[in-house]
Amino acid sequence: MQRLRLALSLSLLALGVAPTYAQTSAPSATPTVKVARARVVSGTVSAEDWANAEPLTAFVQREPSEGAPATFATEVRVVADPSTLHVVVRATDPEPDKIVGYLTRRDVDSQSDWIHVFIDSYHDRRTAYQFAVNAAGVTVCVLNAAEGNPRRLPAQPRSRGLIVRDLACVGGLDEARQWLEEAREVLDWTRAFHLVAAEPVRHEGSHARVARFRWDGQEADWEASDGPALFVSSLLQPAQVEEARRGRWRARTQTAPLDATALAAFLASHEPARGPLSVCMHRDGAGTVSRTLVEVTPGAAVMRYLPGPPCEGKGEVEARLRLRT
Ligand SMILES: [Zn+2]
Repeated sequence: MQRLRLALSLSLLALGVAPTYAQTSAPSATPTVKVARARVVSGTVSAEDWANAEPLTAFVQREPSEGAPATFATEVRVVADPSTLHVVVRATDPEPDKIVGYLTRRDVDSQSDWIHVFIDSYHDRRTAYQFAVNAAGVTVCVLNAAEGNPRRLPAQPRSRGLIVRDLACVGGLDEARQWLEEAREVLDWTRAFHLVAAEPVRHEGSHARVARFRWDGQEADWEASDGPALFVSSLLQPAQVEEARRGRWRARTQTAPLDATALAAFLASHEPARGPLSVCMHRDGAGTVSRTLVEVTPGAAVMRYLPGPPCEGKGEVEARLRLRT
């Protein structure tokens, strides 16, 4: 259910326009701190810039009671430097479990909680640049795969990457599965792929859910797990590779709980023996070329990319994204 639609209009020149599209809106705002260069830490302004900026709190409802005080407290601070306008919003909600954020295709509206920012840069009170962001969570990625059962492919197959875009509109794994099951016509135009989807932990004490959808060009299957799961894709000897790696995975997960360090060690391992069946794969003319670990916790998403065979373990780089809290 959509519970909040918040809009804030900003004028870089003087007073701003009244927003035209909101449930809760701010009358106007002018950047309250102009600095030589904003200090940005993990994607937001520094505590010092935040503290120096004037808080904007006088938000009013647009719907259902136009002009009435906003239902929940919202605080906005604006920091501008010569190249960038930073708008930081602290939106409070006594029932955060009910915050809704649907993933959609770009530029598609949805029944989510939104923050809109309108910039009346011409100060004509009629036009504005509008930016909007909502809250969301499901992650999907596609791994290209070889056709399991060769068949006549369409002359111009549809890009497999479009599956990710198609699925950007789903709200969870169950919806993703339903979409894929009903998309047979789309799949018939698509070459083989594996799709992995992860749904974040929804409630304390529950597990993140992960699933793999496999399309081999003719048949589709879906495999989901409420806990740690291993999905394997291999061009050569797929059955033997899967069996060998699942055996190692079972042995590993039975002995100790998995964390990022244990996963990294597993992905670099040569069990049962260094070669085409080992997790860190080596065979004539081919081998594992990189390893990527993505760790998502309630506050941050961290991606660790290791170029080259994981067993060599050289040159790992890390990217960190701050998530909404
Ligand atoms: Zn290796």
